[in-house]
Amino acid sequence: MGAADYDAIVLGGGISALTTALQLQTKGYATAIIDKPAGAGASGLPGGLANPAYGREAKKSWQSEACIESLNRLSELTGDEQSGSAVIKKGILRPAASSAQADAFKNSIRVNGWKQGWTEWLESGEATERFPLVQAKTGALWIPVGMTIDLPGLLSGIRAKLTHLGSTLFSFEKTEVYEGADCHTVISDDREFRSPRIIFAPGSGIDDYPQWAPLKFNRVKGQVVVAAYNGFPDPGCSVASSGYAAFIGRNRVVVGSTYEHTYHNSEASVDTGMELLGRFRKMCPQIAGALTRTEYWAGIRLTTPDRKPCVGGHWKTRGFFCIAGMGSRGLLMAPLAAELLADHIHSGTKLPEEIDIARFYRTRRFMKMT
Ligand SMILES: Cc1cc2nc3c(=O)[nH]c(=O)nc-3n(C[C@H](O)[C@H](O)[C@H](O)COP(=O)(O)OP(=O)(O)OC[C@H]3O[C@@H](n4cnc5c(N)ncnc54)[C@H](O)[C@@H]3O)c2cc1C
Repeated sequence: MGAADYDAIVLGGGISALTTALQLQTKGYATAIIDKPAGAGASGLPGGLANPAYGREAKKSWQSEACIESLNRLSELTGDEQSGSAVIKKGILRPAASSAQADAFKNSIRVNGWKQGWTEWLESGEATERFPLVQAKTGALWIPVGMTIDLPGLLSGIRAKLTHLGSTLFSFEKTEVYEGADCHTVISDDREFRSPRIIFAPGSGIDDYPQWAPLKFNRVKGQVVVAAYNGFPDPGCSVASSGYAAFIGRNRVVVGSTYEHTYHNSEASVDTGMELLGRFRKMCPQIAGALTRTEYWAGIRLTTPDRKPCVGGHWKTRGFFCIAGMGSRGLLMAPLAAELLADHIHSGTKLPEEIDIARFYRTRRFMKMT
């Protein structure tokens, strides 16, 4: 039996894969990353929000404080590898669409036990005074810790850091994994690699790996519009209302997003793009009148039955690990999930139950019936 080529091989090239690889490489594991050729996966998203108060009622997301702290660490770790930060800390304004939603937002401030200074209710006049380019007729929830992510910039910063630390990044059309006693074999196109640890992080490409076939994931298509605008400054925040407007810098905004539970292809459509631009007009009417160029992008989110990530070791094969199912909150949750998985691999630290893959194979709800 041949020796290992790497201490760990990570399959995937999105935010889950790259943050996991970064954590492992930083802990001293010689790590290789094997992605598909560019463009695949939800991490092709041009930008989005790390929003700890999600949904119509501004619910507190899973371990939101720890997630934001993890993103801060990631930004520090990768920030000097690129010009300007891709993790933009300017806060998120959530204008209420109705008085009922305003009540729900105020309730979120009261009942969710937010850290001091994490959420604040702004009456309409105050919101307009502070953020004149955003429409907030019924008041708004202000989340100063919310982040805007220039995702291509962040991923390229992580790749640069990985290369600097000695990781190797590959891109292959087809990869197969064969289980071994102590060391597993990865065959990618015509290359062969060996490692005792294989981390599967291929997003919706998880179907390419029969090892995880029994796990029940769902797929939700989503679309965004990326637009440039002229003649206005950055509004000083990003916006999450019915959809979001992520102002990713250099006069560009990403307007998202749709949730398409049934779909016939994974392409972006002009009609859906127009619908998103209609939402943007309601959020930022002045800037909406100054858009100069628009492009459409669509991707597939991999979700779990309880909308929490699926992280941990395979139920049968030692050395196989999975980090997947980030759904619509991968920008917020993946960096923390990656830290926790790397600690689990390195020191055997127990994963939090809410994200532990063990909940999949202990409960029928999470497994496909055969
Ligand atoms: C329209 C839209 C808007 C979104 N907006 C937000 C937002 O504002 N905030 C937020 O937090 N989240 C948002 N998300 C969700 C976020 O994009 C995902 O949660 C996140 O990208 C998941 O990351 P991932 O690395 O797990 O998977 P992916 O991003 O899907 O990455 C998978 C990677 O694996 C690679 N791959 C695929 N198959 C294979 C294979 N067989 N072998 C090796 N590699 C493979 C792909 O090339 C890709 O690099 C949005 C998603 C969509 C679609």
